[in-house]
Amino acid sequence: MGASAPFFYFRLSSQYTIPHTPYSIMRTRFAPSPTGSLHVGNFRTAIYAYLLAKQSQGEFLVRVEDTDQKREVPGAIEGMLNVLHWAGITPDEGVMLENGVPIERGAYGPYRQSKRLALYRRYVDQLLAAGHAYVAFDTPEEIDRMRKEEQQAGNPAPSYNAGVRMRMKNAHTISAEEVRRRIEAGEPHVIRMQAPSDIDGARVISFDDDIRGTVAFPLHTVEDQILLKSDGFPTYHLAHVVDDHLMKIDLVIRGEEWLSSLPKHLLLFRMFGWDSPRYAHVPLLLNADRTKLSKRQGSVSVEEYVQKGYLPEALFNFLALLGWNPGTTQEVFSRSELIASFSLDRVQKAGAVFDLTKLDWLQGQWMRAIPAEEFADRILPLVAARHPAAHTDSRFPQLAALIQERITFFPEAPDMLGFFYERPVVSVDLLANAKQKVAKEELPRLLALMDALLTAVPESDWTAERILADVRATIEREGLKLGQLLWPLRALLTGREYSPGAVEVAAALGKEETLGRVRVARKHCG
Ligand code: GLU
Repeated sequence: MGASAPFFYFRLSSQYTIPHTPYSIMRTRFAPSPTGSLHVGNFRTAIYAYLLAKQSQGEFLVRVEDTDQKREVPGAIEGMLNVLHWAGITPDEGVMLENGVPIERGAYGPYRQSKRLALYRRYVDQLLAAGHAYVAFDTPEEIDRMRKEEQQAGNPAPSYNAGVRMRMKNAHTISAEEVRRRIEAGEPHVIRMQAPSDIDGARVISFDDDIRGTVAFPLHTVEDQILLKSDGFPTYHLAHVVDDHLMKIDLVIRGEEWLSSLPKHLLLFRMFGWDSPRYAHVPLLLNADRTKLSKRQGSVSVEEYVQKGYLPEALFNFLALLGWNPGTTQEVFSRSELIASFSLDRVQKAGAVFDLTKLDWLQGQWMRAIPAEEFADRILPLVAARHPAAHTDSRFPQLAALIQERITFFPEAPDMLGFFYERPVVSVDLLANAKQKVAKEELPRLLALMDALLTAVPESDWTAERILADVRATIEREGLKLGQLLWPLRALLTGREYSPGAVEVAAALGKEETLGRVRVARKHCG
């Protein structure tokens, strides 16, 4: 039967289902290609693979898929390993950093595909000998011509498959001796997989994907995929099948863009006589307008998020939740909580929108979660670079605690704390505030009340609580609203529209400095 027989001849009941065994302990892998910086989508698949390996007390390994020499970017692997390290993801096996230098560890190496060429060749020879693969000499121009002819003949999706195999330049149409002679003469050639038109009579191959559920592919749509390129390097298709088998991978988690290639991979496992691992094809990341996440609409490389100052906990949490529904309303997850609760059956099939607002919110949550002392230690050098007095400031931990509640990124700290070290420029426009019912004409009276009540607070009881209690007593006596005193106080102390609260700032500044600022403002407002 020709492989181009129409699809309606097949019935789903005659499909061949590739079995996979359920595993308890899972070995998973992250298999980046060193072709640039790490994409957030790939990082998400790495996180999923890591979580499932840890959850099952299995192993997470890193394998470098460097079979496309033309696209290789120097330093890309180091960059990706640095990102994993930054995120606290330590591979159990494969390529990893040791003291900042990439090393390999594990019993199934080498873990860089470019160092496994002889091995792929051996497996290709096995397929050739079994009649599952064949040599082909077609030039790119000849393949182009075939595609055009097919299109003209009404085939909308032409590929090098059983339908055209017999009219191309390959071992099916050239004698074995001639094939040998051409190879010996150094003629460029590739090795192609010979896609079968049926498996035990079935014309559809189907598989249970851990995210997509049952997926089925008519065999006639499967092309004779190139396995070994003319440069002697394997394609991804061959290399990952061989490696995932030899490295004993139980579950392959990868981007949805590979789903259409799955039948080729399943066929290869079968040709080799190997069980296939489980597969989970993770849906794409989308821009807010639901187009595929692209550079044009924001950053797609993890390194950019690292540079912007996102915390690893926040980005990890965010990416894990992206497209995964925990089944509760919980949104802030620590790594160990994710390890305990992550599951593929709650990963949605539809693309997930990359929502930066949510990322920033999580970033804020994780900033608040840093132990106060550590937070102060981390921002001190940044603040001191701008305000050297911070170095010897015994109040610094107290000040740091005030901004930890509202900060999103560490580099905001010098600005947020600047008013502690420099008196702000006071403007009547900032002190007045319609919403808080602070009219410009009222300012002299309000500031005089403020001055009087603060002067009366004893130095020994100069705390936020005491100041607030006295402010309340004054507004009750004078028939004012809280904001009518607190807004101008906060504004004159900080010079900023947004800042920590008035009484907390006053407490941190001390009585003398607070009153000094109140008096400058009073002069200013006449
Ligand atoms: N090297 C492939 C990529 O970066 C890996 C896909 C996979 O995980 O199998 O897209």
